[in-house]
Amino acid sequence: MLKGGYSGKILKVNLSNEKVDVVNTENYFDVNLLIGGKGLAAYTLWKELKQGVDPLSEGNILVFATGPLTGTLCPGTRICIAAKSPLTGLFCDSYVGGHLGAEIKMAGYDAIIICGKSEKPAYIWIQDEHIEICDANHLWGLDTFRTEEAIRKERNDRNIRVACIGPAGEKLVRFAHVNVDRYRQAGRGGLGAVMGSKKLKALAVKGTGAISIYNVKDFLEKAKEAHKAVLKNETARARKRWGTARTIVFTADQDLLPTRNFKEATFEEAENLSAEILEKRFWIKHKACHSCPINCGKLGVVRSGKYAGTIVEGIEYETLALIGANCGIGNYEAVAYANLLCDMLGLDTISTGNVIAFAMECYEKGIFTEKETEGLKLNFGNEEAAIRLIEKIAKREGLGDLLAEGVKRVSEKLDAECKRFAMQVKGLELPGYDMRASPGMALAYITADRGGCHTRAWPISYEISGKAPDGTIIERYSTEKRAHIVKEQQDRNAACDTLVACWFLKTAVGNERYVGMLNAATGMEFTVEEFLAVGERIWNLVRLFNIREGLRKEDENLPDRAFEDPIPSGIAVGQKLERSQLEHILREYYAIRGWDENGVPTEEKIRQLKLNSLVS
Ligand code: SF4
Repeated sequence: MLKGGYSGKILKVNLSNEKVDVVNTENYFDVNLLIGGKGLAAYTLWKELKQGVDPLSEGNILVFATGPLTGTLCPGTRICIAAKSPLTGLFCDSYVGGHLGAEIKMAGYDAIIICGKSEKPAYIWIQDEHIEICDANHLWGLDTFRTEEAIRKERNDRNIRVACIGPAGEKLVRFAHVNVDRYRQAGRGGLGAVMGSKKLKALAVKGTGAISIYNVKDFLEKAKEAHKAVLKNETARARKRWGTARTIVFTADQDLLPTRNFKEATFEEAENLSAEILEKRFWIKHKACHSCPINCGKLGVVRSGKYAGTIVEGIEYETLALIGANCGIGNYEAVAYANLLCDMLGLDTISTGNVIAFAMECYEKGIFTEKETEGLKLNFGNEEAAIRLIEKIAKREGLGDLLAEGVKRVSEKLDAECKRFAMQVKGLELPGYDMRASPGMALAYITADRGGCHTRAWPISYEISGKAPDGTIIERYSTEKRAHIVKEQQDRNAACDTLVACWFLKTAVGNERYVGMLNAATGMEFTVEEFLAVGERIWNLVRLFNIREGLRKEDENLPDRAFEDPIPSGIAVGQKLERSQLEHILREYYAIRGWDENGVPTEEKIRQLKLNSLVS
């Protein structure tokens, strides 16, 4: 019997037959084994998704999952959106801040599971117990901002929370995002295309209920302590002032900043994209997600020049890195405008920046001529061409139609040389950290469950400080301890993702405070070790799902550029990875995980993690 934290209900919507079901959370999945959030999403896809389903077919399943702390006073909880990814064909969970998660919880649901496909454009309207599948013909074709506005207007309520797609999702661009609360995005893996394939324009929610807490007094004390810890933490405080933008000078200094399609690792114009510049010239307001004391969202306005009037939240580090440095663009105003276009049209800025940089390299190498680009001079640094290409990708026009498939598929259609510099792992375009100067990041990328991703493990801080978590000395470019560090971070992050706790606050809050809040909210009795074991269990469950969908050891690799093109300048000049080095740490990683030499969890491991009852 659930005592608190959970709402106790999961909403299931089948768009094919417009059937709506409400199921009991406890009957649906074992909260003691998987808690919620990522655990709930992984279990749903494992249990309900037919093996080999086309991610863009009606057989795919879209999950909006909260955790037991979502909507409470735990600092910074978000929402997990998951489905089989149209980019990778693997499990994809993408997290977004704002207030949607809290609203779903207040409407009375722990998760919303959407299957099937509507015959015509539709949106799902949830007002507590009232569930309606509404016509969205009038919204189809609108950008994300106008969609949110239109739904709020027709429901006559400005406080409705809306997750929606733009034209890119409708056109099934494989890296289309889901937009939430105007400026927040579940960016990675093409979940917007999954919505588009279901003809689902939006999910709109209004919740008026309360969230039950098992031991209110204890919970409030624990939540208060967590807020205090966050506000005392130096990194969190820096994020409060600078958002994520501050990272760009750090990565440029450390030869970690992808520049001109990862050819270089430092950008001569990085200072022009820095948080200091944005603070001085661009930002006007700090914005926060539900119950977050950090306000890391920064709303900015371009005040003069040809992009004057651009208002957008950001610019986040990943956008500065991938649409800025990686496309050779050092003008923050152009990057802000490109960011706004991506938000409105519904594109993930990380994948979009990679795709444009890839196209620029193809153009400079003569693989794309002006015939293919329809007259666009796609040289690195040409901000106007990049902006035009964003529009073409979102609408699948001309070259944009090809690029909308993502760099892996495009490179496979072009000549073999292109695969060398298609900067992706398992189909997911790489984020803003060059792995040639970080062997730990190389391992994190190839083993991340959703493809090349920085949010599952980020061992860079240990490599730069030269100290492993156990205090022993490690050398920056060596492979020592990386397998341990990456495994521990992946498990820990998966555990936090069951709470859907914000990644930026994890270190400041710490495992003990999370577990304290979890227990006080739910009446459960987790120890820190048990909480972390849930993370490992989920990591293995997702691994089994991915293997079932065709993941093989050979897929755990990097593009050739990582091994063949040394970093040309900066403090890591000459640095590149050796294939034998990567194979070595991958073997070590499999062994530490208790997987066989092909990366498959052994029977013993499955039993040890109590996964046998879930996967049998
Ligand atoms: S730190 Fe930033 S992203 Fe995280 S919850 Fe707070 S405002 Fe949202």
